[in-house]
Amino acid sequence: MIDLRSDTVTKPTKMMRQAAFDAIVGDDVYNEDPTILELEELSASMLGKEAAMFVPSGTQGNQVAVLTHCVSGQEVILEANSHIYFYEGGTISAFAGVQPRTIKGIRGEMSPDEVEAAIRVDDIHQPETGLICLENTHNRAGGAIVPLANMKEIYQRVQNRNIPIHLDGARLFNAAVATGISVKKYARYTDTVQFCLSKGLGAPVGSIIAGTQEFIMKARKWRKRLGGGLRQAGIIAAPGLVALKTMVDRLAEDHEKANKLATGLSAIRGLSIENKVDTNIVLVNTEQSGLNANQFIEILKREEILAVAFGPNTVRFTTHYDVTEHEISNVIEKIAKNLL
Ligand SMILES: *Cc1c(COP(=O)(O)O)cnc(C)c1O
Repeated sequence: MIDLRSDTVTKPTKMMRQAAFDAIVGDDVYNEDPTILELEELSASMLGKEAAMFVPSGTQGNQVAVLTHCVSGQEVILEANSHIYFYEGGTISAFAGVQPRTIKGIRGEMSPDEVEAAIRVDDIHQPETGLICLENTHNRAGGAIVPLANMKEIYQRVQNRNIPIHLDGARLFNAAVATGISVKKYARYTDTVQFCLSKGLGAPVGSIIAGTQEFIMKARKWRKRLGGGLRQAGIIAAPGLVALKTMVDRLAEDHEKANKLATGLSAIRGLSIENKVDTNIVLVNTEQSGLNANQFIEILKREEILAVAFGPNTVRFTTHYDVTEHEISNVIEKIAKNLL
């Protein structure tokens, strides 16, 4: 099987497995796991934040951020197709008791004017705006890079209003590698940031959430409440360290593979590419082929290729380090043959 459903399907590298085996561990609920501490320190310094905390998943990282920043009854401004709004089971409402206020973006980018206009005024009838969430790269926009200038503009406009900004940077390293802008630079325009070790970076488990020392102290309590306090977690942090030290630059290869796939598929009659392929995600529209997304995926399966239906006529392919250039060529060939 050539599995292009997500960049989460990768298996840990040999080095990661060895690092897990060799990890020096302690009880992280007591803050005594040296490997976790090393991962948190490295992450904080890469992001230019005071402190960082390991969480088992990106979803938990985002939820801890919302819970820590907000109180119930507040409102969170976020993009209408953002992961937090679309893919986290309504948790911000269920757990944090906040109400989402969505803004439709273009390629994941919210208009600063619309964000500013959505901020609530001091009025007994209205909820308070408790948080603004950004996402970079933007998953449902097809791995789109949200420009640094957009993040900066939104950040600067809310500076005097005392409203924090959280960045869902599950794939922030993809944005950094594709643009040459460091994750630290991106993180400058957001108060807190979550990134995934378990996506393109290839670690088996885990995400990082970073912010001020004070924020992380409060966040530790929310993580514990959510059941995310782990014991000898160095076993899973060690592969995360390997991911940060060895897997960042090679994300460029994933982007090349996505480009190659997009170019190849766009030449096949009946298929078109919906997104500008900035990073490692390709959204293929199947409508002109007479097949809907589910029918297309069934054909792919017979050819031992896995992808996901993303809309009625949209199929998402995600490249990662466990798929070779040669396999990408095979995928293009097999699809071409089937659609002739
Ligand atoms: C995958 C993803 C997450 C959540 O990560 P999990 O580890 O799967 O919970 C959050 N935000 C974005 C944009 C993602 O793509």
